Amino acid sequence: MTDRHVYLDANATEPLRPEAREAMIAALDTLGNPASVHAAGRAARRIMEDARETIAGLFGAKPADVVFTSGGTEADVLAVRALGFERAVIYGGTEHDAVRKAPPVGYVLPVHANGVAQSALLETMLEEEERLALVCVMLANNETGTINPIDVLLPVCRRHSARLHVDAVQAAGRLPVRLDQLGATSMAISSHKLGGPAGAGALLLNEVHRFGPPMMRGGGQEGGRRGGTPPVAVIAGFAAAAQAAVAQLHDMKRIAGLRDRAEAAAVAAGAIVYGNPLERLPNTTCLRMPGVRGDQQVIALDLENIAVSFGAACSSGKAEASHVLQQMQVPYYEAEEAIRVSLPWNVTEADIDAFCNVYPRVVERLRSAGNAAGNASPNANPNVSPNVSPNVSPNVPGAAMTPLAPQGADA
Ligand code: PLP
Repeated sequence: MTDRHVYLDANATEPLRPEAREAMIAALDTLGNPASVHAAGRAARRIMEDARETIAGLFGAKPADVVFTSGGTEADVLAVRALGFERAVIYGGTEHDAVRKAPPVGYVLPVHANGVAQSALLETMLEEEERLALVCVMLANNETGTINPIDVLLPVCRRHSARLHVDAVQAAGRLPVRLDQLGATSMAISSHKLGGPAGAGALLLNEVHRFGPPMMRGGGQEGGRRGGTPPVAVIAGFAAAAQAAVAQLHDMKRIAGLRDRAEAAAVAAGAIVYGNPLERLPNTTCLRMPGVRGDQQVIALDLENIAVSFGAACSSGKAEASHVLQQMQVPYYEAEEAIRVSLPWNVTEADIDAFCNVYPRVVERLRSAGNAAGNASPNANPNVSPNVSPNVSPNVPGAAMTPLAPQGADA
């Protein structure tokens, strides 16, 4: 066991940045409700509006087009409901559940084997759809780190007068991301994914003239787009964290180097890397260790004081093979052998030294225990390669992957 706690689950939540803590502490004693007209209310409103200007400036939107929400999930759901109102909703097969479960009926846009959304199929889907559409595509995937080419998808959407919502929850603070440069209709970001407190996020809008009914009408806050008294101190922490994350984007080169070192140690021990190796989040790797279940790897590493995750277990603590890998045509039993390692903003060399030392030993032990118990997976051969070629487009069998097959809310 390492004598230190090594946290490599940043895509579940990032450690709080000191700038965010300071901003929150400073704001906590501000008494007023930002909707109140008196001096206390105006003081609270000043903090909110400063935060709004900061977020708008950092991520390329006008302050009036920043809608504060409770987090990334709410920002995505608000986009689907209010921007997809009376439209056909099409979402990428590897989207987060926040998007997948938001529309009452949605259509799945298949991805290539490397996890990148298939733009040619999007064209076909939009041609065949009679209504105007809202297309939801994530900028960077939370499990593999794969980056979608928004510059390719946007012209397809524009040709068909479709709106494009980009889930930038994992990308913001790790890649240079601005809505005005992406050119999409809207973008979701989340505070706790960039080192702020949980409990805040934002939907950024770009020249949106028709916004459907808000999910929460309440007292008409956020320009009538999201009712409810906002958590002023949390929003102050969100803005401070975003400012620090964007100012330190240059550090992603160091983090990518550490990620590559961890990945190389895993590969030397027999692991296979999923996703697009060329276009990935700098802090993320999704590893499959043939013959060793992912949930067992996570537990064994936890006992060694190393925190990683099994798929996007950040959402519910569930131990099911990832839908992301399955959409990438990875067989179920292989997806069950995958873990996600995601490096936080404050990761150190020593953290990665610990991972490189411990991981090969842990998987070897699990593999021998599995073999001894006779329950190794059907494909325990490390030389059998899964579908990982970055340029291969898989066939898309089955109703669930048929472009125009509607998906139920909990598909
Ligand atoms: N979108 C993506 C890509 C995510 O990874 C997550 C969380 O993991 C969300 C949305 C939801 O964000 P939040 O946890 O802030 O609700």
